[in-house]
Amino acid sequence: MSDSCGHHHPDGPPAAAAVARAMQDADRRLTAEGERMTPPRLRVLELLLAAGEPVKAYDLIARFGEDGQPAKPPTVYRALEFLERKGLAHRIASISAYVACTSGAADHAAAFLICDCCGA
Ligand SMILES: [Zn+2]
Ligand SMILES: [Zn+2]
Repeated sequence: MSDSCGHHHPDGPPAAAAVARAMQDADRRLTAEGERMTPPRLRVLELLLAAGEPVKAYDLIARFGEDGQPAKPPTVYRALEFLERKGLAHRIASISAYVACTSGAADHAAAFLICDCCGA
């Protein structure tokens, strides 16, 4: 990240406790909606939340396995598709990356401003 642009830069990835809380919130909401957070869905959400910034699908695939093993791509894409549909993640088309969303609403539109200078 460059410091030459004038805006505030986020303070890096969120704390583990914040990630755990966001995952519990998501799990509770989806359970109430009759959905199920399968292990791949939870894992992809965890990776997105822990990153604290947009992540490309191939990075999610590479980081997926706790033992360092990459995931099968369809596993990650299916989980992303589910998370997007449930308002837990958004795809940022212009940089083809995904970002976690904690707004807590099932279906909502999102807009992103991406800095040309640092990509934040
Ligand atoms: Zn959102
Ligand atoms: Zn910037």
